[in-house]
Amino acid sequence: MDPLIPRPMRWALPEAALLAAAALLARVDAAAAPLAQFGPFFAASVAAAGLWIGARYQRARVAFAMILIAGAAGALATATGPGLAARVVFQSIALLLPLNLAALAWSLDRGILTPTGLTRLGALAAQAIVVAAYATTAPDTALGLLDARLLPSHLTDWTRVGDLGVVAFALAAISLGASLALAGGAARRPWLWALAACFLALQHARPDPAPLLYLGTAALMLVVTMVEQTFVMAYHDGLTGLPARRALHDALLRLGDRYAIAMVDVDHFKRLNDTHGHDTGDQVLRMVASHLARMGGGGTAYRYGGEEFALLFPNTDPADAVGELERLRTAIARTDFAPRARLRPRRRPAKPRARKSPKRLAVTVSIGVAGPNGRRGAEAVLKAADAALYRAKKGGRNRVEA
Ligand code: GH3
Ligand code: MG
Ligand code: MG
Repeated sequence: MDPLIPRPMRWALPEAALLAAAALLARVDAAAAPLAQFGPFFAASVAAAGLWIGARYQRARVAFAMILIAGAAGALATATGPGLAARVVFQSIALLLPLNLAALAWSLDRGILTPTGLTRLGALAAQAIVVAAYATTAPDTALGLLDARLLPSHLTDWTRVGDLGVVAFALAAISLGASLALAGGAARRPWLWALAACFLALQHARPDPAPLLYLGTAALMLVVTMVEQTFVMAYHDGLTGLPARRALHDALLRLGDRYAIAMVDVDHFKRLNDTHGHDTGDQVLRMVASHLARMGGGGTAYRYGGEEFALLFPNTDPADAVGELERLRTAIARTDFAPRARLRPRRRPAKPRARKSPKRLAVTVSIGVAGPNGRRGAEAVLKAADAALYRAKKGGRNRVEA
């Protein structure tokens, strides 16, 4: 999805870098005092920022994760000391934090102040109340369960997290890791890394500042990815995967003195939509976009809107771009496009179509191209390309006009 991050790193960035930075910071002695001072501020401000954006833009899962992580951080900070109550709180967090994170990762954004959202908030609050009640009134009973030995001791001796917590972390990691490996689901990537950061947080005993550092980092991973996904949505077109108009207007500002802009428009697209249905229309747009995305000659494609696309050729004269555009035009016209089965025309066709094998659709595009050529500004060049496109339409379509 993100061309800036090399493919092998897409399962790891930016989270691995954040976690490495936190791990490094946790080991530097000189950082201990500043961390003790600013750790709470770091964790709280990240969680507050995540809660704010999540609540404003209905990213309920991130908002709930902020509440969850901040709650865990607060509980760890208050329940200190060698007593049984602190032990109950710690082992409860070790059990509940991974399970809740995984549940959020696997759920959908179903709102915050909606019935589903309020139920989820209630579930979080109920867990906090039950843990607090057991910690204060019956820590022995709780520890009977939380300290239960489930695994051979040599497997879990190295960690402060009890067996139940280790099992919970392992189950959560396996489910999220499998989703990442099998479905390539970048959507669950930050949750898996946040889970790792939470596990590291529980390897240190308070008053060590590391737990707050790691919990703040877990929150930061989720917030950064949420912001990144928002940019991806704003700058990419969901149907074709091409950069969107907003990205085009940004790119226009970065052009030098020599460039060409082409406008591409699908011919008789309205008719195609009306006879073959909107779904087929969408398939045609994806087909055309896939040709545009593979554009030669250094051209970058953008979806301008509807069935119109724009191509930017930096450092290219319009005359040179024409050759590439002719190649594009013929490649699209030659594509054997057969709509996938189950056509559902938006309007019922006048004559029922014969139910034979899907017929090949002739899809063509008209293209107008222009360069600076004394014009003032790229927006003016874009208009000139649009005027050339209009001439291509007038001239009979399926052609390139400069
Ligand atoms: P011309 O050859 O002159 O370009 O004719 P045309 O029918 O392509 O031109 P017009 O601009 O009138 O029609 C564009 C149509 O594109 C209208 C609209 O219904 C359709 N359209 C716009 N966006 C989408 C989309 O995302 N998906 C589908 N399936 N259709 C779309
Ligand atoms: Mg049009
Ligand atoms: Mg059109």
